[in-house]
Amino acid sequence: MGTERVFSIDFSQLDLTVRKIENMTGDQDGASSGILTDLIAEALDEASLMCSVKAEYRIFNGVTFNPAGKTVSIDSTSFDISKIVYSQIRKSTAIAIFLCTAGQEIGTASGAAMKEGDLLKGYLFDIIGSEIVEAAADLMQNSLHKEMNASGLGITNRYSPGYCGWNVAEQHKLFSLMPGNRCGIALNESALMSPIKSVSGFIGIGGNVRFNPYTCSFCDMKECIYRSRRIKPAAAK
Ligand code: SF4
Repeated sequence: MGTERVFSIDFSQLDLTVRKIENMTGDQDGASSGILTDLIAEALDEASLMCSVKAEYRIFNGVTFNPAGKTVSIDSTSFDISKIVYSQIRKSTAIAIFLCTAGQEIGTASGAAMKEGDLLKGYLFDIIGSEIVEAAADLMQNSLHKEMNASGLGITNRYSPGYCGWNVAEQHKLFSLMPGNRCGIALNESALMSPIKSVSGFIGIGGNVRFNPYTCSFCDMKECIYRSRRIKPAAAK
């Protein structure tokens, strides 16, 4: 096992704007009514006060790939990562396992607003929570990229159980390799995370790996939130 990094992220670092949230509501050209714009601004302000955003990664060296089974072994734990993920990380010489969370509060606020009948506010908190955790994961990934780049290494996209053909149940194994779990994420039996606005996964590292912006063209998961998101870390552009 190698380096471990923990990040406590200030909301202002996430660079979330009303425009970005408008985009995620489907308003690509900024034609939202002033009322919606105001509601988004208000929800962002509330989110900035309630969220405790955290991320961490741990680098595991000496990973072993099995081309026949499309699996990878990390510290004697074998992950069945599926064809898409395997093809993208198979040249890695190390893997960073990451966890990231927007904290419990934003999901709770979304649920509470829905329960009170304020569906729009609940929806906006839900979108903002998703954007918070992805922006935080981008920051974490950019930091990893800079650190690896300084040693002449590249990194891959980040891949998560539940996406790209990788079974979500594998999340239990992933968490077993992160006993510190500084993000405080709990898993239920179905491998769903709590706080709900959390992400986990692998990032491949090596002298012979690269970010691949075209992975999604091989996939038929049409509703995937990552398809349109361009999960390329800024530092890798
Ligand atoms: S659309 Fe892209 S990110 Fe989403 S599951 Fe498919 S390959 Fe993975």
